[in-house]
Amino acid sequence: MKMTQFVIVGLGRFGSSIGRELVLLGNEVLGVDRDEEKVQELSSVLTHTVVADATEEEVLRSVGARNFDCGIVAIGDDIQASILAAILLKELGVKKVVAKAVSELHGRVLERLGVDRVIYPERDMGVRLAHQLVSPNLLDYIEISKKYTIAEMEVPSCLTGKSLANVNPRGRYGCSVVAINKPKGMIIAPNADDVLTEKDVMVVIGTNEQIEQFQNSIRR
Ligand code: ATP
Repeated sequence: MKMTQFVIVGLGRFGSSIGRELVLLGNEVLGVDRDEEKVQELSSVLTHTVVADATEEEVLRSVGARNFDCGIVAIGDDIQASILAAILLKELGVKKVVAKAVSELHGRVLERLGVDRVIYPERDMGVRLAHQLVSPNLLDYIEISKKYTIAEMEVPSCLTGKSLANVNPRGRYGCSVVAINKPKGMIIAPNADDVLTEKDVMVVIGTNEQIEQFQNSIRR
């Protein structure tokens, strides 16, 4: 995978966890925070760290922010600082800017400014957890649009030993099993005669309603 250069503004819990993971994935990461302690904590983990105020244009210019492929604004509480840092990264020409929003309004402002991706970690994690709590076989899900979802579901005992043709989620609910993760490995685009066994995980794609109906039908 090509190494990408990231600049992260704000090294709180969110920014630092993104930074650590990006480094583990083999990328170059510059972390910027005005709090010296936060920077100190990550100085041996990230590729480069700088103690600086990211709302100052000169600061971002001097660290060469414009040469980075992706800028991540991980400031939450100080909305003004988040907005200023996002504008500056965009204006400096960072190819892709991702920013965390703490409220819908904050997110709308960031979108208006041309931020390429606005994320709502607390809100999204809450929604995700709620889905998992009410659907015991749901391991995880990704909303690919407002309408469509990809869900990872454990195979419940009522489906073990059955083939996909037998279970027939496409015919019954309109959603498709696009992969089965088996202890021995992943089957991508499984056939109708592939059999589900205990400990398998199905990867299912469909509209939110289709997935919900399928889940309800296999609820333990
Ligand atoms: P988290 O939940 O990720 O811990 P948070 O949502 O509570 O963070 P903040 O604490 O406001 O968000 O900010 C995260 C980090 O951003 C902090 O380490 C803070 O020092 C840093 N930060 C805030 N404003 C600036 C700024 N203008 N320049 C550089 N760093 C900043």
